[in-house]
This record gives sequence, C-alpha cells and structure tokens, in this order.
Amino acid sequence: MPQHPRTARTLAVAAATVALALTAPTALAAPTALAAPAPAPASAPSAGGADPVPALVEGRDTAAPQLVTGLAEPAPGDPVRAARDHLAAHPERYRVDTGELTELASTPGPDGRRTVRFEQRHGGIPVLGGQYLVHLTGQGDAQKVESVGGRYFTGLTAPTTPAVPAEALRAAALDALSDPQQRTGATAEDLGAVVLPGGPGRLTEHYTVRPGSGGTGGTGATAREVYVDATTGTVALAHDARAPRPAAATTAPAPGAATADGLRPATGTAPDAHGRPAAVNIAQRPDGGYQLTDLTRPAAVTTYDAGGRDAGDFDHVMPADAVPASSPTPAFPAATGDDGATDAHVNAGIVYDFYRDRLGRNGLDGQGGPIVSVVNVSDHGAPFPNAFWDGGKMVYGALPGHYPFSAALDVSGHEMTHAVIDHTANLTYFGQSGAMNEALADYFGNAIEVTARGLAMDDPTAALLGESLCRTGTPQDCANRRLDDHRTTVDDYLGTLDVDTGGVHLNSTIFGGALWDVRRTLDPLTADRVVYHALADYLTPSDDFLAGRDAVLAAGRDQGLDKRQLRAVATAFDAHGIRAGWQQRLGMDARTLLPAAPNGQATPVAANGHWVLLADGPDGNGLYTGTTDGRGKPVRLSPQDGRFHSWAATDGTTAVWEAQGGTGGPGKEILTAPLTGTGPVRSLLRTTDSLDGLQVSGPDTAYALTDHTTGRTRAYLVHDGAPAVGIPLPEGHGLFGLTLRDGLIGWTETWQDGDRTVTAPTVYSIAAGKVTAQYTAHAPAGSGPSRTSSTLLAGGRLVWLDTPVDPAGRSTIRSGAVDGSGIVDVLAASSPQAPRFATLTASDQAVSYQLTSAKPAGGWTNAALPKLWQVPLAGGPAQRVSCDRGGQYAVAADRGTRVVWLDATAGRADLVTRERPAGGC
Ligand SMILES: [Zn+2]
Repeated sequence: MPQHPRTARTLAVAAATVALALTAPTALAAPTALAAPAPAPASAPSAGGADPVPALVEGRDTAAPQLVTGLAEPAPGDPVRAARDHLAAHPERYRVDTGELTELASTPGPDGRRTVRFEQRHGGIPVLGGQYLVHLTGQGDAQKVESVGGRYFTGLTAPTTPAVPAEALRAAALDALSDPQQRTGATAEDLGAVVLPGGPGRLTEHYTVRPGSGGTGGTGATAREVYVDATTGTVALAHDARAPRPAAATTAPAPGAATADGLRPATGTAPDAHGRPAAVNIAQRPDGGYQLTDLTRPAAVTTYDAGGRDAGDFDHVMPADAVPASSPTPAFPAATGDDGATDAHVNAGIVYDFYRDRLGRNGLDGQGGPIVSVVNVSDHGAPFPNAFWDGGKMVYGALPGHYPFSAALDVSGHEMTHAVIDHTANLTYFGQSGAMNEALADYFGNAIEVTARGLAMDDPTAALLGESLCRTGTPQDCANRRLDDHRTTVDDYLGTLDVDTGGVHLNSTIFGGALWDVRRTLDPLTADRVVYHALADYLTPSDDFLAGRDAVLAAGRDQGLDKRQLRAVATAFDAHGIRAGWQQRLGMDARTLLPAAPNGQATPVAANGHWVLLADGPDGNGLYTGTTDGRGKPVRLSPQDGRFHSWAATDGTTAVWEAQGGTGGPGKEILTAPLTGTGPVRSLLRTTDSLDGLQVSGPDTAYALTDHTTGRTRAYLVHDGAPAVGIPLPEGHGLFGLTLRDGLIGWTETWQDGDRTVTAPTVYSIAAGKVTAQYTAHAPAGSGPSRTSSTLLAGGRLVWLDTPVDPAGRSTIRSGAVDGSGIVDVLAASSPQAPRFATLTASDQAVSYQLTSAKPAGGWTNAALPKLWQVPLAGGPAQRVSCDRGGQYAVAADRGTRVVWLDATAGRADLVTRERPAGGC
C-alpha cells in the first residue's frame, strides 16, 4: 500500500520514464492533440435541478461516446448477442464497428442487471485500453439496454502486419531495461501484437521483460511491460509490470486439488502479530504436519512464510521450494505471528468474505481462484518496508520498528483490492487511471477494516490507512494516508511524467477522498455497492478522474439512488475538484500551445518563433509545427508514408528530421521541409549509420554519423543543397553534442590522453574551414578533472556544461568566445540552482535547463518535482521559468527569454510556453 520502492524511480532513468509518460494512459485519455477543443464532458456541476447523472458524455479522443445513459431500448435474448446487435443497430450513435469487438466478460450486476464488456480490436489485434460496455436490465424478452459506454477509439488506421523482423523487436524490448547490467540473462516473453491508441494508432509487439541475474534483483529489478513499435522497431511504451500473470507459477492448491494433494481441513490456533491467540482455518498434510491453508471457502487461502528471503524472489514467481507457514501441531508457534503470517491468513479470509457477502463477488478473480499471501520477505536481508500485489499474490514486508504490513486489515484489503481491480476495470497503473487504481484500493481497504471493526464513519480513526502498524504513538501519527485530507484537483493535483509512476500515490486521495465522502454521506453498505458496481461494470483501463466520477454516478443510479442521493455523490466529487474543466482552473502561468502531446519520443525544439514536436494529431502521428505565441493552427510537416519521423531540429524557418522504418527500406533518411507545411519535403541523406546529431541554420545543415563497424563519429556539413562535406578531426578523436549557428559549427571533442578522457568544447568556422576555438583547460585549479557536454552556439558564443567527475553532482554553465579568447562562468556549480544531469538549451539571451531533485525523505512534494530554471547568457541570478505546480520537462529555447516545454501540471504532457521567467515562486 505505501509507495513501493519500485515505483519511486530514480532520476537516472528519467528519460525512459518520460518515454512511458508521453504515451501512457493520461495521454491516451486526453483530447486528441491538435483537434478542435472537445465538447465539455457532460458531467455538469450539481447546482440547480439538473439530473446529476449525465445523459451523454462525449468521448474525449474519439467519436464514440464515453457514456450514454437513460436508455430503455428492447434487447431480448442472449445478452452478448443482444448487446452486439444493439451497438450494430445504432452506428450513428456509437460509431462502433461491432466486427472489431470481442467479448471479454458478461457479468451479473445489481437487481438482475448484466454488463457485457467488449474489447476493441483493430484488424483483429487488441487495442490497449479499448473497451466498450453495454449495460442490460431485465431478462429474456423483457431485456433492455439501459446504458452504454467505455473507450472505443475511432479512426485507427495503423498497419496490422509488422514491418520489423521479430528478432529485432525482441532485441528492442530487452534494450528497454534501463540498467544495462540487467540485460545479461534477461528474458522477453512475447505476448502478441497490441495496437496503441492515439490518432491513427501504432502497431506494437507486447513483451514482458524480466531482468537477468546481472541486475540488482529484489526491489530494484522489477519486470517491465514493453510495447515495441512494429513499424519502426522503437519502444513505444514501457512501464512496470502489473498485469495479472497466469496462476501456473503459484502453487496454491485449488479446492479440488486440495484433496488430491491430500490436504484435509482442520482448525488450529496461531498467535497474531500482537501475540494474541487467534483461531485459524488450517489444513493437515499427509505427513501429519499442519500448514496455513484455509479450505473453508470456494477460494483456497494459503499463506507462505518467506523466512526473510528476498522480495524479488517472489515478484511474479513462486520459488519451487517455497512452503506455506507450517507447524507440527495445530498450535502454531509465536514466529507465525511475529512474521505476519497469522494476520495475512486471517485477513485474506475477512477480505474474501467482505467481497462475497457484501458485494456478491467470489474471490479476487471472481471465480473462486486461490488466494495466496507471502509474508516475511526482505530487501537483500534488510527490512522490506512495503507490501504489494504482484499480479498473482500479496507480498508483505515490514517497516523497522513496526508490526508487519499484513497486521493491518486495511493494508491487506488494499493489496487484495488491487487484485480485484486487475480482474475488473484493470485500471492502468499510471497517471490518473493509476491514481484511481490506488484510490479504489484505499477505499475498499478502509471500508473492509471500518466494517470489521464496527467503526462509525465519524470515528476519528475511520479515515486512516495503515494507522495500526506502529508499536507506539497515536493512530493519527502512524497513518501513512488518510481519506479525509480534503485534497482537490485544483489545489493539490501533482502532475508528473516520471516520479511515482505518474503520481499514482501522490494523487490518489483526491479521488479516494471523494469516494470516502460518498461513503460518509450515503449509508456505507449502499456506497460500497455503488463504488464496486462502478469498478466492476463501468470503469475501463485508461479512464481518468472525470470518467471515474461519471462511472460512480451511473452506478449510483443503477443502485436505485434517488436524485437527492445522486446530488450528494456529485457534491462529493465537486468538493474534491473532480468536475469538468478542472485543468482550466489550475491558474497556470504558462500558455498551452498543444494539449496532451502523446508520444514516446516527443521532445520539442524551437527557434525564431516556431516550435516542432512529434505528436499524434488528426492527420496522424508525425511532426507538427506551430508558432510559439500560439497564433494560427499547428500543421503537419512529415509525410504519411508509414515511416516513423522523429529527432527534429529547426532554425525557425526550416525543419530537418530523421525518418525510418516502414516500407522505407533499411536505415534512415534525413528529410527537410520549410515550416510553412506547404513546401516540398526533400531528402538530404540515406544512411545505415547511427545519427548522433542533426542541426539546421539558414542554408547549412549539419549532422554527425557513427560508423557501426569502426565506431568513429564524424560531423558532416551540407551547404545549400551541395553534397555533404566531412569535417576532418585528428586521428583518434570523436565528437558529440553537435551545434550549428550562423556559419559556425560546435561540438564537444573527445580523445584519450593516456588513461584520461579529454572532452573539449570546440568551434569550427565553415568559412575559414578550421577550428577557431577549443577549450581544454577549462577545469579551475583544485576542482579535479571534469567533463563537458551540452555544447550550444548562442549569442555569438559557445555555451556548455562543465560537470566535475567528483560526484557532487552540480555542474557549472560556462561560455567561451568563438575565437578561443576566453571563458566566463554563466552559473557556477556552487549556486543552489546549478543544474544536475541537465541538458542545456539556449537563445541569444538566456540559458534554460531542468533542475531535478533527489526524492525527499518524507516523500515527493511539489517542490521536489523537476522544475525549469533560466539564467541570462551574460551571467546573473537563475530564475524559475514557471511557478506552476507539477513536473516540467523537455525545455527548448525559442528567442529572447521565451521557452517551450512539456508541462505535467494538468496531469498530461502539454506543450506550453512562457515569454519570460516567472521569477521567484
Ligand atoms: Zn496500492
């Protein structure tokens, strides 16, 4: 339940996680980039006498509506066929191609209702997050369609056959492991083709990549779900594995198998974590011993004691030699309690009973499948300070000085609800859908404990989570979350593309608090049924907070809530700012140029009043350009030729970029076109070498290529369409960080000097045909060796970042004259705002960069999210570019002090701009 260490990504993998962020559910759930603003969703404020349940909610990135309610249209006969026929009979209303729907589930709901859940296909291939649901009432000839909704992505035109060989796709998936050490011995399980939605969609191959033994193991080496673009061979989406795994790896005995295994039901006693005796349902083995297997329910409940073994050994697998917690007699020893096994075992039964008795659900998977818990895991021998659902079982550790996590019923309820979610709405564990996943786990974990303890909702401890885990102190001090924290979207939403898997814990109580308010306002049993019905029968994987609100309201009406009660539900969501248009009420100080740039490789570039960005638009996935002052409509630059267009550069008049994959043959091509979007697209180069830099300035284009066979990197210049000319470097020298401006080329040159690697910011004059500046003696005396990067020509000078090898982590921003006559410090490493691991961007006036922080000891805060800073090129104090809440990424300098960047404040990756820094925040 607490923030799992695996989800608190380190800054070192920020690039990989941004790649995830930009293609992940928040982006999928957001309006189609570049499209006209979508009509406001119909979740109207609760004021006035309007029906709180919207009759129609438009889809936000599709022509298919997200929700249509208030229907009573006859649909007799077999529910699945009737649901399909209903959709087919109303093509104008739903815009759904029923030939592309596959039945996922047909589940009974309250009052004889039934929900038929379809999965969307594209040419027979599953569409990630594409689900459409038909809600039926009555039976037989009296059966009617009551409501319809979900996420069906219209306009998918992606190819359905891969252009890249399977081996290349698999290799790309393995490369997605951020730690190269983990690649040794790593495996990639091919789960088949999947189409990612967004614009025309992207055909991908889905792999579960498991790190090899070369990785750190345990908490640092979780499995990853990786989707590789089958047209280009590049990673389109990657995130930590959370999908349910086949139960094969879990050796829990099924009810039928139990007797086959020779297990016989028995009862016994075991001390709990507090040392109190508890009655437990157990099983006797053929050898006469006893184990924690409860055979009294359709779902066998088994609890393992890992004996301090590493948590990583149990992540998605059950070791062959793992055994359930055991005892020679029915009286289990004290260790069974101290390790948390007794509580995990008892709590699993309580959670099962809650779902069955209160909500009519047969176990975590709804089919009475086995329920398995593992307690007493460690982090390489150290305490494992967390608990998690791994897709097949619960795994519990303990905080030092605390009771084991399994000793808290709300923690058990939380983790087991993750399992229920995986088997119902399967909310994607990222961004808003991930925060709802956490919120629902909190809601039911809390509800299960409050119910079991017989607490009133106004009890001072009723809103607390994990409050019983401390050995000393008050519950209030002990709780690690509380559902009455009154957080709202507008005041508190922390948008991030990287930390905490897109803020799944940072933002969970905004939604969870609204649900808890519903429970406090309605009677608890009714609220639990409404929320469960929303989860099981309305929500779909990539839903956002607003869709969650609509789902709960629609479920409330199904459950017979009257208008007054429905208004109370709406008011609870209003009170937490979950209402249409909340993103517009954030009071951002940056101007949005393009909402929701949903693309894995999206990094904007800008110059001379224009930006260029890879985006999914109405004209398909490709490079788009627009003005940095927001005037005019963005236009598409790259042709729709089935290739992947990326890595653009611009001087504000012309763009150059790389195209690869598709039917374009092997290797890649450098293309160029004017930013008007109307001029011809011309080819500059075809190559199979690796492209390491691409720059354009007026009549000149420069690029760097690395020859795969020799490993040598060379820069090339194309002047006014003439043949490319290689720029000579001394033997043994290489370069990176190519920059081009007004007849000058810059780079960081590297060579070996004995066992020392020299890096030297260098300027080359095209007219003179020679190097005019090379700064090798840049390290101040006494500062030790350093390395340089991020070379940029700006303001008539060469700018670079100087990072001491000494691991202090801060870098100095320097600039040097282009004739080699001297260096000045733009911002010294001693400044508290000095960059860390940054990439610079510069105009003639100012240098901008992202400043990242280490995770604060008390957990992530807004101040600790990545923020942008700017410093005058001539030197001076650094200022915050924007005071907006939320993470700020991928900054690109335009002219003057204006920059554009990807801003996560509104819970997605918006392309935004400011003309000058906001200053002190
Ligand atoms: Zn959780």
